[in-house]
Amino acid sequence: MDNRITQLFGIELPIVQAGMIWCSNWQLASAVSNAGGLGLIGSGSMYPQVLEEHVAKAKEATKRPFGVNLPLLYPDIDKHVETIIKYEVPIVFTSAGSPKTWTPILKSHGIKVVHVVSSSLFAHKSQEAGVDAVVAEGFEAGGHNGREETTSLVLWPQVAKRIQIPMIAAGGIADGAAMLAAFALGAQAVQVGSRFVASEESSAHPNFKQAVIQTDEGGTELSLKQLTPVRLIKNTFWRNAKEAELAGADKEALAQMLGKGRAKKGMFEGDMEEGELEIGQVAAGIKEILPAAEIVKQLWESFIEARNTLCSIKI
Ligand code: NDP
Repeated sequence: MDNRITQLFGIELPIVQAGMIWCSNWQLASAVSNAGGLGLIGSGSMYPQVLEEHVAKAKEATKRPFGVNLPLLYPDIDKHVETIIKYEVPIVFTSAGSPKTWTPILKSHGIKVVHVVSSSLFAHKSQEAGVDAVVAEGFEAGGHNGREETTSLVLWPQVAKRIQIPMIAAGGIADGAAMLAAFALGAQAVQVGSRFVASEESSAHPNFKQAVIQTDEGGTELSLKQLTPVRLIKNTFWRNAKEAELAGADKEALAQMLGKGRAKKGMFEGDMEEGELEIGQVAAGIKEILPAAEIVKQLWESFIEARNTLCSIKI
């Protein structure tokens, strides 16, 4: 497909694999890029040396463009940026913070910058900060999410109307029909997370991959809203956090309960009860673990099929 996003990144298909903490390693990112999409390494859970290893390995594994997701609240962000510049990573997706500080620095090195937002207001502010595109991520998405709880169906057209730069839609997309719906609402590409957690290459613990394919409708909830809203699978930790919130626990008490490394415990180490298990609502439709290239192929083929079905509707 030839559009503003495929041209911006120099990729074949308008499919971006989200850079998710503990899941998006170099194997996943390079497999998606080799399949014609854009793979992202999730740097938020990587110490600087670890990110360097993943970027170096991704560069060996693919000659196609790949990127890094950089959460702006990451404690050693300077070191991650040094690695990105040193290895000439062409694309950076930033999230969780203001794009004002790092966008001009990244762009001065010829890097394309995309920022993740959950409202049209922040999409507009990101455009003013000089980013090349935004990811508009709706309430359905897994992991950290906006406080306003705007659903994808409402968010995407609002963002598309408010900005002139291209929009990448995220939140609830795991097949081509949803991808087509995103295009109908103004997207030029999609960012897909949950579907790629349940891939062979993802660094998610096998227990977590199994939990994803077993999650049913209603199996996740946006939790810890007073602290940092995050969509989690309903397990023991989720239940304890919810009970504490209902009993009136304040921000400090919730932060203490969460502690450090709970996402790692769940998604990377495989503790399905006490860990944080970040996944989107769309897990309900994901039923098997597949190679990443097969996921890209199925997304694209089902997009074309959905488009052909719509075009054949007689009016
Ligand atoms: P915690 O504070 O609970 O734990 C930090 C985890 O990150 C630890 O497991 C640690 O690994 C690992 N880590 C990697 N590099 C560093 C470093 N330089 N300093 C400290 N810890 C590091 O955070 P979470 O697990 O909840 O979140 C992890 C990361 O996810 C955050 O640092 C942030 O970058 C990102 N994040 C992204 C968001 C977004 O994009 N929207 C929102 C919220 C968080 P180890 O256990 O091996 O020490």
